[in-house]
Amino acid sequence: MSDAFFTPVSGFDLPRFAGVPSFMRLPVVPPGHARFAEVEVGLVGVPWDGGTTNRPGPRHGPRQLRDASTMIRAQNAATGVRPFEAMNCADLGDVGPNPADLMDSLDRVTRFFDGLVAAGIRPLTAGGDHLVSLPILRALARPGPLGMVHFDSHTDLFHSYFGGTMYTHGTPFRRAVEEGLLDPARVVQIGIRGSMYDSEDRDFADSVGIRVIPIEAFFARGVADVMAEAREIVGAGPTYVSYDIDFVDPAFAPGTGTPEVGGPNSFQALQVVRALAGLNIVGADLVEVSPPFDASGATAYLGAQIMFELLCVMAP
Ligand code: MN
Ligand code: MN
Repeated sequence: MSDAFFTPVSGFDLPRFAGVPSFMRLPVVPPGHARFAEVEVGLVGVPWDGGTTNRPGPRHGPRQLRDASTMIRAQNAATGVRPFEAMNCADLGDVGPNPADLMDSLDRVTRFFDGLVAAGIRPLTAGGDHLVSLPILRALARPGPLGMVHFDSHTDLFHSYFGGTMYTHGTPFRRAVEEGLLDPARVVQIGIRGSMYDSEDRDFADSVGIRVIPIEAFFARGVADVMAEAREIVGAGPTYVSYDIDFVDPAFAPGTGTPEVGGPNSFQALQVVRALAGLNIVGADLVEVSPPFDASGATAYLGAQIMFELLCVMAP
């Protein structure tokens, strides 16, 4: 049970457009803060997009998501969960990246998340491009490989880009499997679609036993059936949730680097997360929101709502 310190500022007390916009109007408790050790779920920004291969911009995601998240209220209307009362939540600030050095940035992210693991804090991260999931997994998977529920248009399982570049936002989960951070038998990728280079990524998934659920199957079967299978795949073991905003149809989430048409609507975008309640979630992320391509702000707004749904299913 959370005390007043960890309670977000209410819109009844201070209008939502006023004040410093921390994630969900939570207190800002960076590493070193006197109450850092009391945090149970930490919201973290990773403002970095050095893995982007196409349209850039997710380095600006955390700031825009913080602003959009001032709309979040205390209770989930669909599930009744009141996450800020169920656990001590705080905005832990941003991981300071090195925008001119990709490998250094990866290390900085891992070091930051090592500190969270040591303090017993489960992270809910706002990206950043999807490569940020790799250094996060390096920290969270130290005890052993994790399961993962992955929402995306893309598998992000490619071997390399541009003749041998191994670290891009199209390769994080290939590296994560190679490094033993993920147990491929406990990984499910949902929403995959779009024109393909070839089938190299899908062949890799098949070869290691990753379950890919393309968008055609998602719509043919429906949310409840697909998510029941996803729950069965990850089981009761420690599980990471990675949510690429391009899972959602670009009509609802245009502000992203690699949009793919023919996707779920904004309601289904929330439904799939609600179906994760009760799983053993060790961390989650929401990535690839690109404010420069988000002229209306709708993508960041949806992203903030998805983060709230993720927080609600992380509540005990
Ligand atoms: Mn992705
Ligand atoms: Mn994607």
